Amino acid sequence: MRLILLGVPGAGKGEQATRLSGKFSIPHVSTGDLLRREMEEGTEVGRRISEFVNRGELVSDTVTQAILENRLRETDCLAGFILDGFPRNLSQADFLQAALERMSAPVDVVLNIEVPDGTVIDRLAMRNRLDDAPETIRHRLKVYRKVTAPLVDYYDRAGILKRIDGDGSPEEVTQRILTCLARKA
Ligand code: AMP
Repeated sequence: MRLILLGVPGAGKGEQATRLSGKFSIPHVSTGDLLRREMEEGTEVGRRISEFVNRGELVSDTVTQAILENRLRETDCLAGFILDGFPRNLSQADFLQAALERMSAPVDVVLNIEVPDGTVIDRLAMRNRLDDAPETIRHRLKVYRKVTAPLVDYYDRAGILKRIDGDGSPEEVTQRILTCLARKA
């Protein structure tokens, strides 16, 4: 199974991806995690990446796409994967579609995790990441609305979008996702 999780920062994509990854024994692929790993390694690329991440800006498509494609080519992704944080804009979505076509591995379903704005701010305030400072959160939400939100329509038109109510405990949300996926199968 190949899944994409969409939702504002703080919607619970990471948490749900981890839980689903355990349930289905497929890897959780988070471009945020992959980029943070580059930053920790302190390479030249990592330093450039951190300038964008710490300001709440998107890292360039070229860098993110290369990192993502390398990850998807690892053998554990043959069984499927859960994408969290990618694609983040329409050109990344086109890139992903072309890359997966080359691998004969189309996306099965896109889950849009929907939560009210207030919930998102509260959840992010509880994390301890440099890019979760209030100013940066506001900026990331703005970037989300402008460049990432159009992906909901993009995948709806492709006929693979499912909407999930993300307001509730992590267990409740996982249960909604599992019910939705079972209905689809
Ligand atoms: P996340 O962990 O998904 O919230 O991502 C944290 C940060 O990593 C984002 O605010 C961006 O700066 C960067 N990032 C993650 N995924 C992408 C992507 N697909 N394209 C560009 N930047 C990304």
